[in-house]
Amino acid sequence: VSGEEGLIERWFQRGPRRPDVALGIGDDAALLQPAASGLLVACTDTLTEGVHFPEQTPPDAVGHKALAVNLSDVAAMGGTACWALSALTAPRADPAWLGGFADGLLTLASRFGVALVGGDLCRGPTSVTVTVLGTVAPRAALRRDGARPGDGIWVSGTLGDAGLGLAVLQGRAALSGPARRQCVRRLHYPEPRLTLGGRLAGRATAAIDLSDGLMRDLGRLCRASRVGAVIEWERVPCSEALAAWMAHEPEGWRLPLTAGDDYELLFTLPPGEEARLGAELEAGEPPCTRIGTVTEPPGLWLERGGYREIWEAGGGFDHFVEGA
Ligand SMILES: [Mg+2]
Repeated sequence: VSGEEGLIERWFQRGPRRPDVALGIGDDAALLQPAASGLLVACTDTLTEGVHFPEQTPPDAVGHKALAVNLSDVAAMGGTACWALSALTAPRADPAWLGGFADGLLTLASRFGVALVGGDLCRGPTSVTVTVLGTVAPRAALRRDGARPGDGIWVSGTLGDAGLGLAVLQGRAALSGPARRQCVRRLHYPEPRLTLGGRLAGRATAAIDLSDGLMRDLGRLCRASRVGAVIEWERVPCSEALAAWMAHEPEGWRLPLTAGDDYELLFTLPPGEEARLGAELEAGEPPCTRIGTVTEPPGLWLERGGYREIWEAGGGFDHFVEGA
């Protein structure tokens, strides 16, 4: 066996095995045995070089991120990830690059017990599409449309490091030493919050993962739920590296609100769940932070330095806001 078949079989042999895979890579399609109860969670995402990740991104980071962004979507639904399929397009079959890609993807898959059950490899500009399938208890699934006025708005981890890492790689921001390494690392190796998503299942009223920036993704959640939100800027969690950078950038405060690629979870908790879970979530790994409140009137509001203003996307820091 050589070429594509050999490569895909080598990937598969190193990936985790699961008893619910009746037939894995090697036939026309995989045969999977979903649990008797529960819903299937299904999502897919494409990463294209030069669009979703910079050229010169290490191959293991491409493999890691292509799976991580899908696991993040499963986490945002409160699901458990089970199976993944990967379709890779690359300009040539460079064994070192492909080996690195497979390493990144399979190392992450192993950590979460996800079996790679399908693979495709073809020639063309670098792009990778990963599909992940998982399960969730029907009434426990976290959707975007359940937030209610009075719910607290929470976020996991810290925001903005990945966006700053991208700005650094693109020469739009200056950073050096450990701070630079930390931010580039968070861009290349996002950590899917599957454990947290599982804990929130059946408890949070709504959830979304942060792929396109806090305010944009919050806007999606609020539109789906037909509510508004007030965010308190001073509560938005940032790393020390980002805080130090923001202190020297007049418009830098916008970055944790607008930068993409965080892959943290944004979720809403009703007051009763905040009382039950709040302290535990704040002390958890990753720590979670309450950053605002769901309101009845639609629209996003930002409180900062004692003032409350309607949030208008972009607003003076456009080079950190991609698209419209
Ligand atoms: Mg998402």
